[in-house]
Amino acid sequence: AAERTSLFIFFGGTGDLAYRKLYPSMYNLYKKGTLREHFGVLGTSREKLTDEQFRDQVRKSLGTAKTDKDAEKFVSHFVYEAHDVTDKEHYQVLKKRAEELDKKYELNGNRIFYLSLAPSFFGTVAGFLKTEGLTDTDGFDRVVIEKPFGRDFDSAKQLNDALSKSFDEKQIFRIDHYLGKEMIQNIEAVRFGNTLIESLWNNRYIDNIQVTLSEKLGVEERASYYDNSGALRDMVQNHIMQIVSLLAMEQPVSFTDVDIRAEKVKALRSLRVYNVAEASTNFVRGQYGAGDSQRAYRDEDNVPHDSNNDTFVAGKLLFDNYRWSGTPFYIRTGKMLADKFTRVDVVFKKPLIDIFSFPQNHNAPLEANVLTMYIEPHAGFSLRLNAKTNGQGFQTEPINLDYFVDAKDSKATPEPYERLLHDVMKGDGTNFSSWQEVSYAWRFVDQIRKVWDLQQPQFPNYTPGSMGPASADELIQRDHRQWVYRL
Ligand code: NAD
Repeated sequence: AAERTSLFIFFGGTGDLAYRKLYPSMYNLYKKGTLREHFGVLGTSREKLTDEQFRDQVRKSLGTAKTDKDAEKFVSHFVYEAHDVTDKEHYQVLKKRAEELDKKYELNGNRIFYLSLAPSFFGTVAGFLKTEGLTDTDGFDRVVIEKPFGRDFDSAKQLNDALSKSFDEKQIFRIDHYLGKEMIQNIEAVRFGNTLIESLWNNRYIDNIQVTLSEKLGVEERASYYDNSGALRDMVQNHIMQIVSLLAMEQPVSFTDVDIRAEKVKALRSLRVYNVAEASTNFVRGQYGAGDSQRAYRDEDNVPHDSNNDTFVAGKLLFDNYRWSGTPFYIRTGKMLADKFTRVDVVFKKPLIDIFSFPQNHNAPLEANVLTMYIEPHAGFSLRLNAKTNGQGFQTEPINLDYFVDAKDSKATPEPYERLLHDVMKGDGTNFSSWQEVSYAWRFVDQIRKVWDLQQPQFPNYTPGSMGPASADELIQRDHRQWVYRL
């Protein structure tokens, strides 16, 4: 791999995300040669640590032996500075340390500011980075923002306005780690690399598309955050909207961030924003109750006993455009469901006439062709076709053409954060959310939220280990359809 040169300044550098994802991902880039000699890392947070103590923590986070020579060399590029992000004067200390690293590793003034902090600090940090001169270099200055990006359109806009005072849109990289996943990126390859698929990719041949992000676990330790967010904000506004826009968009003029984003935005602009009546019929929410060995959501630690937070959401999305008019997208996501997986099921229309199921033949009616994209935990595709059963007579049965990334290859698959950090160094914004995407997604989601805030839900309404409340099945059955994945 070509070597990339940059200084990384991690705010929240001793946090859970940094140790669990960011440093191990950087180490993978180091082992692959993307990071070599010309990189430096400045970790900052409120905690008081020496450089040596910080390096010890980073080394531990890599899960390598203390004697590992590569790891030793890697962590030698790390330094630490305790810093309160609200302390304006102290940015001078960061600036000085940044300049030292810049000189020592010949970084050409390239800087990546990674804000792995509570979002309430994003504006403050971005402001001081500029006013205190940390962005005053000859190289590039990029800022990476973790989720959540606001909790509705207004707060997202406020946050974006604050960031925009210091950084241009092309310098801002909003993380949506789903976009770092191999199979998400494969959606584009499959669509635009195959005549067979793309020529059928419209309302004439596709009956409906289903996107499921299913989680097996409950809220875990994130309850206090999650109870203020819920499934709609935590999963639909970002990950699901991103997946849906990749599925719905037109072919980009070229495979570059600018052109891809333009098409995704155009798709989101034709997504129907619901009025009150539409929002209440086309979206349902859920909250898990108690299971055999599982507490109800309302009994989890740090969750109020009368919480009306949504731990599940299912909905129908409609695009008012030439390609998709009449072909709904059904989405669902939730916690404490039957299994952990992410998949997309593209359900094609059945042949207009089924010539095999005449009464004397007793053949079961033809099934619809389904293209399933398995995103995780196993990456792959499956295409369901109808074929003749082997033997006498004429019966048909559905068969599957399957392709799965084998275990050896999936080990070599870069972690989402590894890929995304690499993209930031390249300055490639393809797999990050642009402000326009974020804002259209919030406008859609806000309408649902507004209606929900007026109605009293009947919670809890689903059992752990199920696929959500009965209303999620009714939502799709009402349209004479079924979830492809069901228990
Ligand atoms: P964390 O609570 O583990 O770490 C927060 C860090 O911020 C700590 O290093 C803390 O010292 C520092 N900090 C807090 N106040 C500060 C201040 N005033 N000045 C300087 N430093 C301060 O949080 P986390 O889980 O690592 O999450 C970081 C960001 O990533 C958040 O935006 C979160 O929403 C997002 N995120 C995290 C995860 C995850 O898996 N942990 C997943 C998705 C998004």
